[in-house]
Parts: sequence; C-alpha cells; structure tokens
Amino acid sequence: MSSNLINRLRRTFGFRLNLWYASIFTISACLLYGVLYVLISAGIARQDEDILEAQKKEYAAAYEAGGLRGLQDYIRVSDASKKEEPYFVRVLDPNLHPVLESVPPDWIAFATNHQQLGSVNIQTTTPYIRIPKNARTDFTITSDKLVDGRQLWVGRAASNRETLLRPFRHIFFAVMTPIVLLGFIGGALSAHRAMKPVREIVATARSIIDTGKLDARVPVRHSDDELDDLAQLFNRMLDQNQALIVGMRESLDNVAHDLRTPLTRLRGTAETALRAHPAADGATEALADCIEESDRVLTILQTFLDVAEAEAGAMKLTRSQTNISALWTEVIELYQYVAEEKKIFVMQDFTEPCDACVDPTRMRQVFANLLDNAIKYTPEGGQVTVTTRKQNSEVIVRVRDTGMGIPAEEQDKIWDRLYRGDKSRSQRGLGLGLSLVRAIVQAHGGRAQVISQPAQGSEFIITIPSGLTATPA
Ligand code: ADP
Repeated sequence: MSSNLINRLRRTFGFRLNLWYASIFTISACLLYGVLYVLISAGIARQDEDILEAQKKEYAAAYEAGGLRGLQDYIRVSDASKKEEPYFVRVLDPNLHPVLESVPPDWIAFATNHQQLGSVNIQTTTPYIRIPKNARTDFTITSDKLVDGRQLWVGRAASNRETLLRPFRHIFFAVMTPIVLLGFIGGALSAHRAMKPVREIVATARSIIDTGKLDARVPVRHSDDELDDLAQLFNRMLDQNQALIVGMRESLDNVAHDLRTPLTRLRGTAETALRAHPAADGATEALADCIEESDRVLTILQTFLDVAEAEAGAMKLTRSQTNISALWTEVIELYQYVAEEKKIFVMQDFTEPCDACVDPTRMRQVFANLLDNAIKYTPEGGQVTVTTRKQNSEVIVRVRDTGMGIPAEEQDKIWDRLYRGDKSRSQRGLGLGLSLVRAIVQAHGGRAQVISQPAQGSEFIITIPSGLTATPA
C-alpha cells in the first residue's frame, strides 16, 4: 500500500473511527483474557495446594501410626497405586538433616540443591515454596511439624497447572489475531457504508462549487435515520438557495432590460437637443456628457443582458469561417494607444492559418475583454503576449501578462458575474468582463481557463473548436 493511500485513509473519518473501534476492541479483549488467565491460574493453584495439604495430612497420619518405616511403606504403596505423578516427601530431624527422602525422577535438580533450601525456615515463613525447574514447570511444597518435632515436607509438581494453562496461552494468539483482523475489516466495511450519505453530501457540494450548476442534489434513501434527515435538509437548503439565486438573477436581468429603453430614449432626446439647439452657457457640454454617460450605462446593461442570454443558452451566434490571428491583430491595434500610454509592449506570436468557425463580433468582444484586463492589471513597463495556435481540431489562444496576478482562492470566482478581485478595486470595471468571456466561449462550445501566480502575472487560455460545434444548453 503506498504511503499516499495510507495518508488519504488516515484523513478519512471512517478510517479513524474504525481505528478507535479496533483499538478499544483489542484492549478490551486483552484485558478480558488477562483477567481470565489470572483467575484460572489462581483457581488451579488453590486446588493444587488443597490436594497437597490433604496428602500431607495422610503422610503425617501414617508417620504417627508407624514411624519412619510406616511412612516409607505408605509412600511406596501409594506411589505404586497412583496414576498421577509421585509426590516429593522428605523428613528432616530437628537439625534439619534429612532422615527420609522420596524424590520423583524430575525433582533431581531440586533434591541436589537441598542445602540451600534447608537454610530456609519453612515453618516460620510461608508454608509453600515454588521452585522453577529450568523454567519448564513449577513445584509446590508444604511442610509441617510431626508429633516428635521432626519436619515433614511434601511437594508436588504443578505440571497439571501448566498442562491446562499452556494451550490457553497459545490459543490467545491463534484466536485473537483473526478476531482483531476480522473486527478491523468488518469495522472498516461498516464505517465505509455508514459514511456513504456523508460522502454523497460532500460530492454534491463539491460539484455545485466546481461547476456552478445549482441543480445537483443528494440522493435520498428514505431510511428515516439522521443521515437521511441531513440529506433531505441539505436538499431543501439547496432548493431555497437555487430559487433565491435564480430569482435574483431574473430580477437583475429584468431591471437591466427595463432600464435600457428609457435610457436609450434619454440619450436620443439629449442628442436631438444638442443637434437642434447649439446652446450657450455650457449646455452643449452638459448634453455631450449626458450622451457619453448614457452610452456607458447602455454598454453595461447590454453586457449584462448578453451574459444572461449566453448563460441561458439563448445567445444567437452568427458564425463564419474567421481568421483568429487576423481578428487579434484588429483588437491589438484598437488597444495600441492605451498600451503605449502605459508603456506596455504587446507581443504577437501567431501561427497561420488559424481559422475557426465563430461569431467574429462576439469573439472580438472576448479578445477585447482579455486584452483590456491584461493591460489594466499590468503595471507600467510590463509585457503582454498573445499567442494563437491550431492544435488538431481546436484553436488555442493564450493571453499572458506580467501583471499583478490572481490569488489562488480568487481564480474560480473571477468568472462570476459582478465579481471583482480585492486588489482590482482601484481600477475601473464592473466585474462583468470575464463572465461575458466565459459565456461567449462556452456558447461556441469552448473552454476558458486561467493560470496565475500573484505578483508574477496571469495567463488566460481560450480553447475554441475550429469547426462547428453545437452550443451546450
Ligand atoms: P473587471 O471589470 O473587474 O476587470 P472582469 O470580470 O474582467 O472584471 O475581471 C474580474 C476580476 O478578475 C478582476 O476584478 C480582477 O481581479 C481579475 N482579473 C481579470 N483579468 C486579470 C489579469 N489579467 N490580471 C490580474 N487580475 C485579473
């Protein structure tokens, strides 16, 4: 698994949830196992000690009845008859010297070491001692004072305890590993399933942001749970937003439309007055200003209506086979004066032939807006390069400037109607130019993109099909 995938997984809520669940599950299972292990081993140890205690009493009774010989006979008979392992028996005189010893074969290591054990005062400390023998098994020894003051030690290998506990330890790994793995995989699958509605909400929100299409909705499963409620509420919120935005756009378009007629009439009246009565006292100038301002407002209103029309898919295009490079030369000539005033060098890098079937008037508007922006947002002494290229069945136009650039977070928004960049407010403009550019390019079946770095410049890329393409709805 690549580190990229792990990083992506770690950032998903479902994965983190599952990791928590698996950790808690593993810790609880280990704790449960630990408690069980301690309880079982303590229970077995207690049982061993009880058996040993009972045996010791029997040996003491045999000693009491028949002395050392009686005890010896008893041991022989009981060792021969018992199916389980023989007991370790030792009788020590008051000087701690052994006077009788019966040692099972696997106790040799302990028996040769009795000097060391003999120094332990068993009666006054704990009555049981466990001696690990090669760490293979444990021994339990109990001791008691006999009637004549001698000491009786009785010991037993705890091998049955070990026999019971060893598989328990082995089972832990054999059972826990698949359980934890199964828990993790099962948890991952259910978390992935449970998070599906959330992923759908994220995908819908992302598609609305990326495409600007307001009609995307989250699929509703009608499962009546919280996530279903969330999806339904999210859809209702989108419905309301869409209705609001569409309503606002329509009102704005209507206002623009309604303003155009009285403004045109106003302009006509001023023009008639100017022509009919060349008045004195600055009235001529006032009327000329009036006409100029009316023209400006009319252009704005017209741009607004053009964008609305193109966005609604109703823009009428009068297409003809057009030389794109020649169209650019015209536009650049038009802006030559403005560029020279700002000492901006406009470089042309054209390939011929570069024909496309477009509406030349509309395309001129696109190029003029791009060049106008490039000159407007590039400081004095800068450079603007216009490139045209034909690539397969497309014409690609690039307008690159050495200007102020566009911050990454604004690059998606500059195409929206009335959007103006934070740093552009000192310049003239209404925020309609690029929305018109995109609308016209899309009406031609093309694409408009931008690549930009703040303080380094921007590059606007327009791709238009060179042949006839159906206008997308
Ligand atoms: P405006 O009337 O503000 O120029 P546009 O729609 O043409 O409106 O552009 C929208 C915004 O995009 C501008 O306000 C500006 O912030 C940014 N912009 C457009 N072209 C450029 C460019 N060549 N360099 C830097 N910023 C640009």
